[in-house]
Amino acid sequence: MKIRTSFVLVIGIVAVLALAACGTTSSGTTPSTSPAQTHAVTKASEVEYKPAPMENWKPPAGSKYIYLTLDDGPGSNTIEALDVLKKNDVKATFFLIGKMIRTREAMVKRIIDEGHAIGNHTYDHADLAVLSKAQIKDQLEHAAEKIGPEAGACFRPPYGAINDKVRQVASKLGMQPVLWNLDTDDWSPNSTGASITAKLLQAKPGDVILAHDAGGDRSGTIAGLKAALPVLIKKGYEFAPVPICVAGTREPIN
Ligand SMILES: [Zn+2]
Repeated sequence: MKIRTSFVLVIGIVAVLALAACGTTSSGTTPSTSPAQTHAVTKASEVEYKPAPMENWKPPAGSKYIYLTLDDGPGSNTIEALDVLKKNDVKATFFLIGKMIRTREAMVKRIIDEGHAIGNHTYDHADLAVLSKAQIKDQLEHAAEKIGPEAGACFRPPYGAINDKVRQVASKLGMQPVLWNLDTDDWSPNSTGASITAKLLQAKPGDVILAHDAGGDRSGTIAGLKAALPVLIKKGYEFAPVPICVAGTREPIN
């Protein structure tokens, strides 16, 4: 019980700090309609946060794959991110926010053309764990419409906020959750190119890395990727899109 209490306390503190950092109110009853500044859990009392990212998929046995994921685009640093990935021949997974696409269809096309996978990150970065089933469905469907048929069978719940209701609705839409186990903390205002590089260099085969190509100035993320990717590749690691996010994997049930 003591460990559980400590855990809840720590999560609570993290949530309070995160809320303070992104300037939201502490009531937290209204999901944000703007792209995330943070992926920290916002409502620890209501969500089930599981750092283990693999609920319905696994890396191939014996592989050296690392799964780099980039959230909240398309936006400010998507082109730069694509350039770095191309230069290092790295394939990643982009979790797109439907609302962010707007006039950025060319970025989405480039993501597809260059062999990356695309996942659903909701229409406007809503905290799904506080929504009704109808609202969850609307968030995921509306984003799927904007992204188009190239999205795979996966979604990433903003803030990692997920519960069984979210899972059920998503599953009916043919989408499975993809969380992460290595956070670059690039959403934190205290992060720097050096701190993000250091986080990235901790990656090992099987890891799912959380980073961002939009939702704020991500120049630190770009610097981190430029520095870390060649080092990780030199170690013999390979980068692959999350398999269930690859286009053509989604089969809606209804
Ligand atoms: Zn996000």
